[in-house]
Amino acid sequence: MSTLDLNPYLPTERVTLFADVILPLPLPQLFTYRVPHDLNDAIQPGARAVVQFGRRKIVTAVVARLHETAPSRYQAKYILELLDDEPLVNEHQLRFFEWMADYYLCAIGEVMNAALPSGLKISSRSRIQLNPDWDRSGFDLLNEKEGKLIELLEEHESLTYDEAAEKLDVKNIYHILKGLTALRAIILFEELKEKYKPRTIKKVRLVPHHTASEERLQALFEQLESNPKQISVLLSYLQRVPVHANPAYNEKGIEKSELKGTGISASSLATLTKNGVFEEFEVVVSRFPTTGKAEKLKEVVLTEQQTRAREEIIRLFQEKEVTLLHGITGSGKTEVYIDLIRRALDSGSQVLFMLPEIALTTQIVARLQKVFGQEMGIYHSKFSDNERVEVWQSVASGAISFIVGVRSAIFLPFSNLGLIIVDEEHETSYKQFDPAPRYHARDASLVLARQHGARVLLGSATPSIETYHQARTERWGLVEMLQRYGDAQLPEMELADISIEKKQKKLQNGFGTALLDAMRQSMTRHEQVILFQNRRGYSPWLQCQECDHVPRCRQCDVSLTYHQAAQELRCHYCGYHEDVPRTCPECDSPKLMAMGAGTERIEDDLKLLIPEIRVQRMDLDTTRSKNSYQQIIGDFEERNIDVLVGTQMVSKGLDFDHVGLVGIFDADRMLHFPDFRAHERTFQMITQVSGRAGRRDRRGRVIIQTHKPQQAILHKIVQGDFLGLYLDEIREREGFFYPPFAHLIRVTTKCEERKVAFQAATALVNIFSRHLGPSRVMGPEAPVVERIRNQYLQDVLVKLERGKLNLKAVKEMIRREIRTLETERIYKNVRFVVDVDPV
Ligand code: ADP
Ligand code: ZN
Ligand code: ZN
Repeated sequence: MSTLDLNPYLPTERVTLFADVILPLPLPQLFTYRVPHDLNDAIQPGARAVVQFGRRKIVTAVVARLHETAPSRYQAKYILELLDDEPLVNEHQLRFFEWMADYYLCAIGEVMNAALPSGLKISSRSRIQLNPDWDRSGFDLLNEKEGKLIELLEEHESLTYDEAAEKLDVKNIYHILKGLTALRAIILFEELKEKYKPRTIKKVRLVPHHTASEERLQALFEQLESNPKQISVLLSYLQRVPVHANPAYNEKGIEKSELKGTGISASSLATLTKNGVFEEFEVVVSRFPTTGKAEKLKEVVLTEQQTRAREEIIRLFQEKEVTLLHGITGSGKTEVYIDLIRRALDSGSQVLFMLPEIALTTQIVARLQKVFGQEMGIYHSKFSDNERVEVWQSVASGAISFIVGVRSAIFLPFSNLGLIIVDEEHETSYKQFDPAPRYHARDASLVLARQHGARVLLGSATPSIETYHQARTERWGLVEMLQRYGDAQLPEMELADISIEKKQKKLQNGFGTALLDAMRQSMTRHEQVILFQNRRGYSPWLQCQECDHVPRCRQCDVSLTYHQAAQELRCHYCGYHEDVPRTCPECDSPKLMAMGAGTERIEDDLKLLIPEIRVQRMDLDTTRSKNSYQQIIGDFEERNIDVLVGTQMVSKGLDFDHVGLVGIFDADRMLHFPDFRAHERTFQMITQVSGRAGRRDRRGRVIIQTHKPQQAILHKIVQGDFLGLYLDEIREREGFFYPPFAHLIRVTTKCEERKVAFQAATALVNIFSRHLGPSRVMGPEAPVVERIRNQYLQDVLVKLERGKLNLKAVKEMIRREIRTLETERIYKNVRFVVDVDPV
């Protein structure tokens, strides 16, 4: 170091900063960019920066760290633009994302991609749209280029970045977009995603001129004095919007329909609007009906059981990070949650309440919303990007402390979580299958909670075996509610043996006498029925009666499902579809028969078997369009439907008053699914659907059709013997080394050439066996469907017993070995998909 450096009269040397950034790409490492000097002071970890990656790709990265070391292996490019002065991703999140990438063996860029709503990502794939909600009066404040872009967007529905840059004749459009996004004048969205279509309501307010001062308001009164009808409109308005107390209230105005509802003269309001006293405007409202403020509710008094559960949970939280609330269906878990949420919020911490995907649109959310009103934010994958960005920002700013959401809500910018509730914790929809990160939101929530010093409450009527095991062995707390609210009884469960009727060919389209009789009885009693069959379409395969040919998918190794209404054969794996052949493609025989039964066929057959019945189907096919799900639920609630036939969709969080009977069409199929969790899943599914029967004053009935009524598992289901299920399962799993006694990591190789997929998987088995010993590695084995979208699949399963191995080191090894194989030429067309803790 030269002594000159100490000379106080010389300007201090400029520091050259480098930023390691997370690119939203599946890359194994961070990349280093150079920070332009003028951004030295502003840049912070967690802020977004626009950078160029490769030749043409422009992407939004997130700064992970700042330092002064230039990369040794490449010349660092400059950061093009800094998008945030405040970090968008906070420190908790950065740590959480790192953990997730490590644990689930994926790239942190992939985690980032899953975490950020695409409205927060600027990429060359994004498009720009005018925000329909933007107030154009702000136009004058824009600079020339910004204004030009707005005008372009008024002419075009949307533009890509390149188009916009070209039309504006600028090289770098990012700073223009940044400014306009900050003003909320434009919306950025990913092309693939649905565009933002706001739902709006009409509101009215006084033209701001009149509220600028008390004198002006007074003048307005004088002006209208001679017209009592108009005065009454004004008074009605001021009563509800106390402008004299605070002129700012005027800005929000009042719903037009609400003002009209006060009995004022509609024509006077119209005149006043025309004369420039009032003005109309539109605002965007949430898809969910909000009541604005928390409604005044009937005071709910917790039952003795609920009070005890709450007290126990609070006590257990003092010593345990996690507690399981095992409460049977209808025991009233929601009210216990509400009580705990209230307490956590009152103590000043944030709360995250997670629900499985589908349950989000149902009664439980409506119930929470009634209690928490605008204190609560909803985060749903069906939301448009813009809505998700808004939730993100309200969590970041602290405007909202309570979030109800699906699994991806776990990525929101919480800074101070106190409580995480995972309702229906056994649900598989908490696990993301594709793409990476293949995370389980319940498991990840435990890590998130630990980071924040928060507590986790897992709730379920049918806990997963893993969770129950943790609770039974006292690692986690266990609280039980085994009575239904209001002493409602659990339904009466019966097994209906259909094997004899089947032999005697007396089954009517798969319906046994017991189920049909019970349905007819329900009709005469004016009770509703839910019929469960976890398979959609009309029939899972067609078969030629002459030559046994079965039409199969061209790209996948499965039979095509026959969809009658659409008159199509469809592949449920890749979406391929074709017209139904009139004759057998092999032998030309016209005798093509529909085999097996999906929901569509059951619906059809029922109409023939009981003609007066009103049947509705609820499955993926009938709920594709927006709101159709809610529509069906609403129709069922209003009793415009007698029988609801559906897949597992009918089992989730619905609470109907008049369901007397639940029918399980085919229990055997679920039980025989080749998966070590088949019994557990069947127990969960049947118990959940059954919970829909007879909730209030009437005891419901459940009929389970089976060919083998002697199966022990069915008796456990009928008796609601969850403990019995658990003890059986845990014995098996201990014996065969399955979770919770082992960690599973599955690596699937995918390749268009069957041989190569197999070769790659075999190589993995050999390498892993060398590191871990052959007993810990299984495979290669073809999954149930061996080819999907023309890719052949082979599974390798690594089983690691709990507590014996250094998991982190094993995972590092797996990552490293896969990366090595990926670079080998023979495997250049192979994809390696890693799934940690597959479900
Ligand atoms: P779970 O989620 O445990 O299946 P719910 O929370 O849906 O059960 O409660 C079942 C029913 O009992 C609901 O209709 C709910 O409104 C009612 N309920 C539960 N607890 C109370 C209470 N303390 N006071 C009034 N109604 C209650
Ligand atoms: Zn044939
Ligand atoms: Zn297919």
